[in-house]
Amino acid sequence: LILGHEIENIGGDPDPDLDPGNSKPIICQRCYDLDSKGTTLLSSSSSPSSSIPPSTFTKMLTKTLTPSVLSSSVILILVDLFDFNASDSALSYINNLIISSGSKAKVILGVNKSDLFPSDTITPLRAESYIRRELEIAGIECVKGQGSVKLLSGKTGFGVEALMGKINKELRMSSREKVYVVGGANVGKSTLLNRIISKREGKRIGRGSKKNKFSAELKSVGGVTESNVPGTTLGVIEIELSEGKKLYDTPGLIVEGSFLEYFKGEELKKVVPKKRVEPVTYRVEPGGSLMIGGVGRIDLHEDCKSFLITVFVSNEVKVHPCKTEKAEELLEKHFGGMLSPPVCEEGNRGERLNELREGGWEDHVFRIDGKGWKEAAADVTLLGLGWFSITGSGEAKVRVQAPKGAGVFLREESL
Ligand code: GDP
Repeated sequence: LILGHEIENIGGDPDPDLDPGNSKPIICQRCYDLDSKGTTLLSSSSSPSSSIPPSTFTKMLTKTLTPSVLSSSVILILVDLFDFNASDSALSYINNLIISSGSKAKVILGVNKSDLFPSDTITPLRAESYIRRELEIAGIECVKGQGSVKLLSGKTGFGVEALMGKINKELRMSSREKVYVVGGANVGKSTLLNRIISKREGKRIGRGSKKNKFSAELKSVGGVTESNVPGTTLGVIEIELSEGKKLYDTPGLIVEGSFLEYFKGEELKKVVPKKRVEPVTYRVEPGGSLMIGGVGRIDLHEDCKSFLITVFVSNEVKVHPCKTEKAEELLEKHFGGMLSPPVCEEGNRGERLNELREGGWEDHVFRIDGKGWKEAAADVTLLGLGWFSITGSGEAKVRVQAPKGAGVFLREESL
């Protein structure tokens, strides 16, 4: 990573089922809240375990993507470049389905949300080599040798024409007629499909009704509902393409361990980035910390040198540097305000903080060998929230504190 943006100095003084056979779908708390109130109530008390079990979605996908369907279709797997590691479980599941069926599935990997990055920081080439490396590490073989990793943005339309060209070519060359779109929840499937529909119709199509979202099988809906909340598009949706070709949208597989689980409706809008992410680099001294809103923090151990930590999160997630010894005090004082999201009123700060801490917090400790000052050594990724790249010399001893169950991983090569 070439650091071309602002560097802040820290470490000194603290700166301020759906079972297809069932006519009535089972909906999770999130979907219910979203449908009835337009918001969700996600908290530690409404953890993924209280939602539709992820197995409901995988079972449904297994029923849909039978070996004969796989062999006679083009499969578009969609992943989110911003939150790629959250796609791991969905990708592995789909990969196993394809590989174990022994089918000759034609697979295209669409890497969505590419608009979120400054192109001088993460070039398309860099993004593609990162994705291929991650696929290798995760043992995803279904895309291998097919050369079809497409960088996209459903939001801006970037790469969508090229993607459709690729899909049409694959359909034509293999004499197939169906395209199935699969991926984790929140990767932007609905946004992309609406763009595809609008291109087909030559105009922007309105949103589908909420009723549509919960129907088991839908044919040619006018639009697909976009949301901030994972798991809201249930059922398989059929969209007519040209010349009798059809595209099917499958339900987004639930991502376990996402930080998104800890936020409510309005807060989610802050956490899921809509605009280009502006990375900020902090120089963190030993014994220094970065507070990540009110939902976690990253500490640099006293027993190492200083490091540059570049933060890639939604611009609305407030990151504050402080001394580790002052971090707890700062959290209690500014939680939900200066340290947001979560967002809360002065009066319910304690209550919301307790809610977030109900399941306890845990430490994730990483030791990272620096590669010098010109290149980031590794990224610490926080599922659903973003990542921190670590640059410097010597060994960085990093600890991340976050709610128990929230996914924190080390990406051994920086994006
Ligand atoms: P789905 O659950 O996969 O159907 O995802 P949605 O289409 O509902 O999108 C989830 C969130 O990501 C929404 O807040 C969208 O506005 C946002 N989103 C979807 N596609 C893009 C994209 O290409 N770029 C950006 N920046 N945001 C996107």
